[in-house]
Amino acid sequence: MIASNVVRRFALIVFVSVMTEKTIAPNVMEINMGITKIPWAEVSWNPISGCSPIASGCQNCYAKKMAYRLRGRYGYPQDEPFRPTFDPDKLEQPLKWKKPRLIFLGSMSDFGHIDFTNDQLAKIINVTIKSPQHTFLILTKRPQRLLEFFNWLPDESFNNLWFGTSASTQKEFDENAEILCKIDSPNLFVSLEPLLEDINLGKYELAWYIAGAESGKNKRTYPRGAISSLIKQCSNIRKPLFIKQVHYTSYDGTSESGILKLDKDIRNWPPEYQIRQWPEFKL
Ligand code: SF4
Repeated sequence: MIASNVVRRFALIVFVSVMTEKTIAPNVMEINMGITKIPWAEVSWNPISGCSPIASGCQNCYAKKMAYRLRGRYGYPQDEPFRPTFDPDKLEQPLKWKKPRLIFLGSMSDFGHIDFTNDQLAKIINVTIKSPQHTFLILTKRPQRLLEFFNWLPDESFNNLWFGTSASTQKEFDENAEILCKIDSPNLFVSLEPLLEDINLGKYELAWYIAGAESGKNKRTYPRGAISSLIKQCSNIRKPLFIKQVHYTSYDGTSESGILKLDKDIRNWPPEYQIRQWPEFKL
């Protein structure tokens, strides 16, 4: 299953690069057409956009940068581009994708933001129910809101939904994982990106772990040993780990040159860091 995901993803990348060179900017593709640069999903779906900061990982928010770059276009308000906004025109998008896809739901927002009403979120979830061929990944820094919303929904089976939370520090991981684990689903994951601390995964055994270094001009790094510790911990509990990107020089945090360089190309990394594992999605 992991292999078939990779093949599908590779085919998509080839398709995108042929189709879009010199025609559409990548950030617009991500928002408007579903194409994503995020390597752990195949496409993104953004019926919601906008957010407000809530955690340490929000400091250099990519979604906010994009919102301001695209203000007044593609559904972003002109006056306050990062205002949480529900766009019903984008609701139908996954229904048109006939082949099974691994979809990041809400890559330009936070599904758990309080400004999205239960009715708006229910409309989104209704589309996921009507698209059993797809697998949807929901990622939030507000797991309490996610928990409350899914408790509010009528009983349904959400087999094609994966529930994730983000954390950058030990405190955020402990707090968010505890709440996430109250969701009645085996499909729970965490994204430790941007990774800012050495994180002990402790008693929470989630089904999938993602880790990544921060990107952007003002990026911050993680302590030396933080990535290799996650590799060891996931190996010990036999859970899949996906390393999205690392900081260049030591591949595991750096204090040598004082200059941080992001490296997204897994081919440059030493073999022991080349870990990109997915769980068994039922696609
Ligand atoms: S929660 Fe996510 S989308 Fe919202 S401000 Fe923070 S990083 Fe940006």
